[in-house]
Amino acid sequence: MSYLLRGVAAAGGVRVIAADTTELVEYARVRHGMAPTATAALGRTLTGALLLSHVLLKNPQDRVTLRLRGDGPLGGVIADAGLDGAVRGYATNPDADLPPRPDGKLNVGGALGKGDLQVVRAHAPYGDPYSSSVDLVTGEIAEDIAVFLAQSEQIHSAVLLGVYIEPSGVVKSGGVILQALPGADEAALTLLEANVRALGQLTDALRRTSLIGVVEELCWGLEFELLTPDALPLRFECRCSDEKALDALAFFAPEERERMIREDGGAEVVCHWCGEARFVGPLAMRSIASDEIRCPDCGTLWYREGQNTMVRESERCVCGRPVLLPA
Ligand SMILES: [Zn+2]
Ligand SMILES: [Zn+2]
Repeated sequence: MSYLLRGVAAAGGVRVIAADTTELVEYARVRHGMAPTATAALGRTLTGALLLSHVLLKNPQDRVTLRLRGDGPLGGVIADAGLDGAVRGYATNPDADLPPRPDGKLNVGGALGKGDLQVVRAHAPYGDPYSSSVDLVTGEIAEDIAVFLAQSEQIHSAVLLGVYIEPSGVVKSGGVILQALPGADEAALTLLEANVRALGQLTDALRRTSLIGVVEELCWGLEFELLTPDALPLRFECRCSDEKALDALAFFAPEERERMIREDGGAEVVCHWCGEARFVGPLAMRSIASDEIRCPDCGTLWYREGQNTMVRESERCVCGRPVLLPA
């Protein structure tokens, strides 16, 4: 089982969030059929999103999305997580794979290239999502998240992320965020930094000891106090549904949908997030037309029940016709 632990150290001066994500990252690798470098990038991003949800969110329905975009062969990687322990994500090019770096580590920074990290917070059920971004520093993801926290949130932290892969699959995956809280003791922070350096590679540590063992090494001399006696379970879980597949098909014009029915007997909708393929048959496809309003002139979709409004009342359609939505 994948799980997360929270605690404090240095008499409340340091917040600790740690996760073992081995199982869920292996699950994501198999679902998306990913190459090792892409798996490492996605695994670090999935883990980073789960850890960040405990830094940035308050309610179980809130979500945090991490989107890394770069000019390298990976294209980009995205993950979305919440305090409920559910996370989902994908890489633009799951086949992306590079030779390992001279130190033997997977070349995630090279696969991402130059680009940026965007963090989006969505607070349910109301409110517009709040987004901020920073340029990628190394593209190794952990450092980039630390820079985001420092620049955008004024939170000083150390971020450790790692995925260790063998030909058979993911052997270890995990992450730790150590966050200095206001008023933290300087000497304690100096000791913490020395402990981080002494730990070495996170996945090496996770292969010789448990997650709690790693946290205790990181907090050596700082009296770590565990706040989650029962570890919080984590899982890869999507929120796609038959209904959302219909929403996606609503972007096609009715004639286009009729053509799909004629030629393929329906349409297959594949979810980017989890790779799930859904086949939508003629009956369901024709039901779309009954609850959508289109421009009488050009056929552009103006409104559909339950879907984000694409065109608003008082705006103009792409063809120039003023939009008039029935009450
Ligand atoms: Zn899905
Ligand atoms: Zn129009």
